[in-house]
Amino acid sequence: MAVSGIGPYDDGNIFARILRGEIPCRKLFEDEHALAFHDINPQAPVHVLVIPKGRYVSLADFTARAPAGEIAGFFRAVGAVARELGLEESGYRALANAGPDSHQEVPHLHVHIFGGRPLGPMLVRRAEG
Ligand code: AMP
Repeated sequence: MAVSGIGPYDDGNIFARILRGEIPCRKLFEDEHALAFHDINPQAPVHVLVIPKGRYVSLADFTARAPAGEIAGFFRAVGAVARELGLEESGYRALANAGPDSHQEVPHLHVHIFGGRPLGPMLVRRAEG
């Protein structure tokens, strides 16, 4: 179910629980700023999530509040994971949902990395555009 709006950080969200080690994940990468793991419900042959270690709901929240080193570290991790996955040549899509219109389900910032097949158009087309 999508989050109902972009609100304050909820320490009970599933990615906060993964970061605290309360529930497992299929970890791919970890450093001081970021954790990357396989999505539990993959929508492409490669579907990985990269999350910052800090308590941020969305990209806007992260880029407004995080120190510059944390922002740089997180985005370096996104790039490093895509490279490590061997997706640079074939290509991939990186996507971050935020808020109800995007259907964000987990209110902790995460970047999806999709790859492993041609990914089709960026968005589902609707009559209204
Ligand atoms: P979003 O809709 O952008 O908030 O994406 C949330 C993603 O988290 C979905 O693709 C879910 O399949 C994924 N997800 C939810 N719970 C877990 C979990 N425990 N481990 C890995 N991925 C998860």
